Parts: sequence; C-alpha cells; structure tokens
Amino acid sequence: PVTAAMACRRLSQPVLVRWGEHQVTIGGAAPVCVQSMTNTDTADAIATAIQIKELAQAGSELVRITVNTPEAAQAVPIIREQLDRMDVPVPLIGDFHYNGHVLLRDYPACAQALSKYRINPGNVGQGVKRDLQFAQMIEVACRYNKPVRIGVNWGSLDQTVLMRIMDSNAQRAEPISAQSVMVEALIESALSSAARALELGLTAQQIVLSCKVSSVQDLIAVYRELGQRCDYALHLGLTEAGMGSRGIVASTAALAILLQTGIGDTIRLSLTPEPGATRTGEVIVARDILQALGLRAFSPVVIACPGCGRTTSTFFQTLASQIQDYLHLNMPVWRKRYPGVEKMKIAVMGCIVNGPGESKYADIGISLPGSGENPAAPVFIDGEKSVTLRGDRIAEEFQQIISHYIER
Ligand code: SF4
Repeated sequence: PVTAAMACRRLSQPVLVRWGEHQVTIGGAAPVCVQSMTNTDTADAIATAIQIKELAQAGSELVRITVNTPEAAQAVPIIREQLDRMDVPVPLIGDFHYNGHVLLRDYPACAQALSKYRINPGNVGQGVKRDLQFAQMIEVACRYNKPVRIGVNWGSLDQTVLMRIMDSNAQRAEPISAQSVMVEALIESALSSAARALELGLTAQQIVLSCKVSSVQDLIAVYRELGQRCDYALHLGLTEAGMGSRGIVASTAALAILLQTGIGDTIRLSLTPEPGATRTGEVIVARDILQALGLRAFSPVVIACPGCGRTTSTFFQTLASQIQDYLHLNMPVWRKRYPGVEKMKIAVMGCIVNGPGESKYADIGISLPGSGENPAAPVFIDGEKSVTLRGDRIAEEFQQIISHYIER
C-alpha cells in the first residue's frame, strides 16, 4: 500500500552510488536507503573490513569510512579488495575533512575504490585556499565519476558564511531569530557549495546535500527549508544524537516528522554505542523507523501487547520474543525464496480483550489465554479463526503455522 509518507515524497534528483555491478540510488523514485559509518581506525584494513561487513549484513546499504591520514587512504583499496573477496558489494563513502584534497590527489587507488565522497565545506580550508581545495576535491570526483555529499554540520560550519549572515541580519529593521540565522547559514553553505560543484563539472545527479544539527526542532526547521529550496537528494540525520533511548527517541522524532512529509532520501542514525557494543544498532533503528512509517519493509512485524494485570505469567512475552527470533533466524532464506514475506504482520496478544481484534487485522495472530480465561489460544489466519491451540506446545505449533503460511 502507498502510505502518506510515500505519497508526498519530495521530488529529488536520483544519485547513483556504484560499486561494480552493484548500485544504490539515493533520491528520485528510489526507496529511502539506510547508511551507517564505521568507528574503526581505517588504517586497520582488516578490522574496518570486518565492521563494514557486519554493518552491511545488518542492512546498511552504504557504509562511510573516515579517510583522515595517508595510512587510511592507503588502506581503502585493501578494504575494498577484502570486501569484494567476502562478496560484500556495499559501496563505500570516504569521509574527508581538512586534508581530503591532498589524500584524493596523492592516493588515486583510494579515490577509485571509494564510491562516493563526503566533503564538509566547513573543513575544507580558509580564505582563498578554501575554494582551491574544494575545487581540487570536486575535480577528482569528476575525473573518477563519483558522486559527492556536501555535508554541512552546525558544529563545523564555515564561519565566513555565518558571519556574513549575522552581519546582514544585524542591519535588518526586524532581525530574524537566532534559529533562522542558523537555518540560513547552514543552507547557504550547502547550496553555495553545490553551485560551485556544478560550475566545476559535477551534475545535479552527482550531488547529495545534508545540513546536520543536534537539536530536533532545528533539524526539522533546516530540512523543511532546504527541501523547498532545491531538488538535490537529501541525506537526513540528527548529528550527535546521543546514547541509549535519548539518542533513539530524538533521532526518531526528527526523522519521522521529516520523512512523513516526504523529506529525506537516505538516513543515518548517529547513535553513540555503549562501550564495546557493535555499530549495528543504529542500522536496526534506522530500518525500524522506515518500516514503522510504511516506507520500507525489511522483516515481518510482530505486534505484541504490553501485558497487564490480566496476564499472570510471562508466557506471551516469551512467545512474542521466540517468534521474533524465529523470524530473524529464517529471514535470510525466506527473503530469497518467498519475496514479500517481509511485509507480514504477526500478532501475539496476551488475552481476549484486544487479542482477537489485533489478530484478525494481522496476517496471522494468536490470542493467548489471560489469567482466569479458558486455557485455549485461538489462531487467526487472514482475518479468519483457524484453529485453537491448547497445552504446552502452543509455541512450537504456532511457529509451524507461521512457516506453513509463508511456504504457501
Ligand atoms: Fe492486557 Fe489483554 Fe490488553 Fe494484553 S490484550 S494489554 S493482556 S488487556
């Protein structure tokens, strides 16, 4: 079904990000894609390749890596080779700050092995050097036919742009708000850099823009304005969103509002992982946001009630979790064999209060007996009551019903 978020998608230029035969489109009519970033030292090619593989397997369709030193630039083609050997065709994006013009010039194998470059206009250089160094990077992108993200960040905004806008604001009869100054400065930096990249030979279908800030309300204000003022593909993300539930909630709040109004062609969640945790969490949350909004479908949804005083055991939570694990385990095979399986909805409900209703709405649903209810669990398939499960093998029998349904 076409959801509201799909129906009002902002028109944007499609940008192809390629590696070999594999390509991911950002923008145009392509689905909103998920990307993430490594946190290994890129100079450690093996550790970085392993982390990229983990991120790709978790569902990251593009992976960005820091390219900050000659050693990192030398490692990039080795990382690419390792990934190709492991049959991981995910396109790599090189993240450049301060010395990107030197690294891209001096390490052509790195420039070639990357599928896209990220350039931060605030970290390209100062004064006349800024334009020269920016031009050097864009010229490499043109030579190797690579798209570029012009990624502006409030924390590293080009200060000359900010000062210019603040000065002109000071001379207005009615000055605009501090938030409007920030919005204007971020957008001005992104759009003027994009205009310069066009002059230097890139096309609009090789440019992705982002203007990241760490406040939800500011991000919404910036992207609403940016979305209206250009048709470049947009990379969306709340920068430095933070740890744990705070980071997830803030990112979800900002991205959901923008995606629902059709803004955003690729998303990245900048979540700070717990020490020692893998980076894949941000990919899972990004996919969950897109699926919750009805923009993409990655795996069947398990609808489960929270439980309440009507449930005296944790059996239904256990069953919901078992079903989730069962789906997760089988999805790699099912996805290839039964396309469309990722759109399924399975309800696991704690009692008859909302159980039958939710179960009928799902593809398959089970309504477990709450305390004091008849110990029987009716199963609904395609909205119709199918069987009633009883006894201590309810979990196994329900899994069989799911797998038969998918096979059919
Ligand atoms: Fe409670 Fe039943 Fe509602 Fe679940 S479906 S929250 S067990 S009343």
